[in-house]
Amino acid sequence: MTSTTARRVLLAAPRGYCAGVDRAVIAVEKALEQYGAPIYVRHEIVHNKYVVQTLEKKGAIFVDETDEVPEGSIVMFSAHGVAPTVHEEAERRKLATIDATCPLVTKVHKEAVRFAKEDYDILLIGHEGHEEVIGTSGEAPDHITLVDGPEDVDNVTVRDESKVVWLSQTTLSVDETMETVDRLKQRFPALVSPPSDDICYATQNRQNAVKLMGAEADLVIVVGSQNSSNSKRLVEVALGAGAKAAYLVDFASEIDEAWLTDEVRTVGVTSGASVPEVLVEEVLEWLAGRGFTDVELVKAAEESITFSLPKELRRDLRAEAARKAAG
Ligand code: SF4
Repeated sequence: MTSTTARRVLLAAPRGYCAGVDRAVIAVEKALEQYGAPIYVRHEIVHNKYVVQTLEKKGAIFVDETDEVPEGSIVMFSAHGVAPTVHEEAERRKLATIDATCPLVTKVHKEAVRFAKEDYDILLIGHEGHEEVIGTSGEAPDHITLVDGPEDVDNVTVRDESKVVWLSQTTLSVDETMETVDRLKQRFPALVSPPSDDICYATQNRQNAVKLMGAEADLVIVVGSQNSSNSKRLVEVALGAGAKAAYLVDFASEIDEAWLTDEVRTVGVTSGASVPEVLVEEVLEWLAGRGFTDVELVKAAEESITFSLPKELRRDLRAEAARKAAG
């Protein structure tokens, strides 16, 4: 590198924690305080290594399935949602459950149930194997067909072309999803759209901010984990918006010095919806140490949405507060 004068960082806003992730992480922390360790959590509460490791240290135990949870224990379901069969299995095993499914995922589950009741064929746009897709599909397995991107559209078959609706995973690329919908509409002109967007506000806002910075950025660093769908989409959106390079890192220590060639003058920084701000701060420090001290905010939206804690937890926290007040 030759000069430090023209180096700058474009910092996306909004970035990082969304309301659903914030709620899920606080739910585990509050549950640990209220009931004591261990609290079992089915699957990663949110798709972020740092968050999972931090909660493990506090006493959370992450399991793949409810049959790994000892009978009578407390199990929390992750923000991505679960199929009804998982609730049934937990009940059979006499587990106390706390459901931290994001309310915006629950909204999609309810849409699936409603359209299945009306006997629609439901085309669920999403990534095969993603936990959210497995959970949503489980609401109406006989009615739901997964459509994994535009190239999957030609494989879709339905029972009645006049009664088809599309829904989607909450964390997809907005543009790619609309391309999939357009192709589906060409095949099924009567295709019905969901009553409101399934791709959530947080996913859309983070992608919009990256679009604003993408064209100006020589390099975009997205902080997030490899299994985080919305974080991976941010890398794709950055490249689509014109960034010369974009990479996903869990931690600042994963940034490769070789990415900062002499030509790199503007670095975009953002983070997925499951990423705590401390990890972004570490990336900014890493960049500052290499001459990128000038940080400009690139703002796409204001966010003020919050969700209340899962109802089972709220009930027990209220009861505990009342007990304490009584004496
Ligand atoms: S990314 Fe969206 S759907 Fe997922 S937890 Fe956050 S707010 Fe909820």
